[in-house]
Amino acid sequence: MSADIVVKIGGGEGIDLEPLLSEIAEMVRSGMRIVLVHGGSHETNELSGRLGHPARFITSPSGHTSRRTDAQTLDIFCMAYCGRINKRAVESLRRSGVDAVGLSGIDGGLWTGERKKAIRSIEDGAVVIIRDDFSGRVTDVDTGLLRLLLDDGRVPVLTPPAVTIDGVAINVDADRAAAMTAGALQARELLLLSNVPGVLRDIADASSLIQHVSEAGVEAVRAAGEGRMKNKILAAEEAVSMGVERVVIGSARGAGAICAARQGAGTVFTGAAAC
Ligand code: ADP
Repeated sequence: MSADIVVKIGGGEGIDLEPLLSEIAEMVRSGMRIVLVHGGSHETNELSGRLGHPARFITSPSGHTSRRTDAQTLDIFCMAYCGRINKRAVESLRRSGVDAVGLSGIDGGLWTGERKKAIRSIEDGAVVIIRDDFSGRVTDVDTGLLRLLLDDGRVPVLTPPAVTIDGVAINVDADRAAAMTAGALQARELLLLSNVPGVLRDIADASSLIQHVSEAGVEAVRAAGEGRMKNKILAAEEAVSMGVERVVIGSARGAGAICAARQGAGTVFTGAAAC
């Protein structure tokens, strides 16, 4: 049996993990098989500032944004993602009686990926090529390791970085890693929860939510997403194309956020939308 659901919780400002972890504990108690993936962008930005190596971001010519990940940034990234956030999440779940196991994508080669050889970045209106970045994308998920844990009643709590085939840690987008994981496990559902209610037609207007991709049209959804939302939309499309029945980009905030997203609060992608 595979995972029922992959839940990815973003690491943006204003997300309180505790109520979400309580919901996950309840779901596990009701017998669901869950894989949790988390981010950590806000905490990494803060830690970077405190350690005197301020966060920097790259915007590609197509408008996708990503963290500039030099060697020192990767260390700080690991401190935040694999360190404090992952261990505190596992601690909290274990306190609720959940047999949680925290792993980064490096551990056991869980998320294997490719490092980007050259990144095109727009700086002051000009295209700059960056060659020493430690970032990339997940190409393979070790489903055997995940199934071993799930079959044993454990809850994997996963976080970037991933690792290349020759053993180099790489920063990967957690939404797309979650999508690859859901697809590889043939999970029924993927929830991508962050600090916005879903994909908004107008980012300044919280009531402009696009509710269903099949009604709005995938082009309209793609056109609405800017910056980091572009990666989330891409992740949702990738998961659906890998056979995940339902993906919801929804809010991680408010009481019962996971339950609400499962009931369709957010932007819903279904198999039919991918056709
Ligand atoms: P997380 O790190 O929590 O997973 P991100 O910060 O990567 O989440 O993505 C959510 C962000 O995407 C929002 O905070 C918002 O600033 C941005 N965004 C860009 N375009 C849109 C849009 N059309 N609708 C909603 N959010 C958008």
